[in-house]
Amino acid sequence: MDWLFCDFHIHTTWSDGALSVAEVVELYGRTGFDVIAITDHVLDSGSLAAGEPHWSVPEERFGEYLHELWEAARLAWERWHMLLLPGMELTNNTSRYHILALDVKEFISPDLEVEPMLCEIRRQGAVSVACHPFVRNHSGESPSEHLWQHHERYASMFDAWEVANRDDLFNVVGLKKFNYIANSDFHEEKHLRSWKTLLRCDGNAEAVKQAIRTNAAVSLFLYRGGPLRGDGFPSPGMP
Ligand code: ZN
Ligand code: ZN
Repeated sequence: MDWLFCDFHIHTTWSDGALSVAEVVELYGRTGFDVIAITDHVLDSGSLAAGEPHWSVPEERFGEYLHELWEAARLAWERWHMLLLPGMELTNNTSRYHILALDVKEFISPDLEVEPMLCEIRRQGAVSVACHPFVRNHSGESPSEHLWQHHERYASMFDAWEVANRDDLFNVVGLKKFNYIANSDFHEEKHLRSWKTLLRCDGNAEAVKQAIRTNAAVSLFLYRGGPLRGDGFPSPGMP
């Protein structure tokens, strides 16, 4: 069984990403990825009220968002044999936690507290990921600091933690033997060069989700450019 090249944390123009869903599929497909998840932000109501609405998928458009991802998933499979999981980044900037739901089926409110949110993710057959538990932005804020402050309590409640996010590698998550994956947190083309996940499993959604949950055949790799497959996809747009 081959290792699958995976990235489970990608933003598009549905929130604050620079590329459309179609452009993301084209970029990852021609590079040779096997599995991607598109995870646009859904922002908590307190932050929306404070005036950050431009980069959140609105609840009333969430169905439209999912439909676009289902259609893109079909095209990704037809054109590239690449699996696309519809996802979301539940972005609570009021209480400070960012949580990915992968293979999500319905809207989930980012206003939920962490434990009911994880229950809802599980109820939908989706996978939960604690995002960038250590990252600090340029103003020194840690957008997921709540998760790390309570990591002992939450450790095994999440299906996985991001042990790496883009250029940052969080060794403590690995040292504590949490389930882990690594993602690009893709917002623009240069973010393709970043930490990624390798999984050894069949290339279908249930097998990929189970591989994250069991976390046995998982590895990290730092993608530095060029086609991933030996037979080489044409990559006219690669920098
Ligand atoms: Zn985030
Ligand atoms: Zn993100």
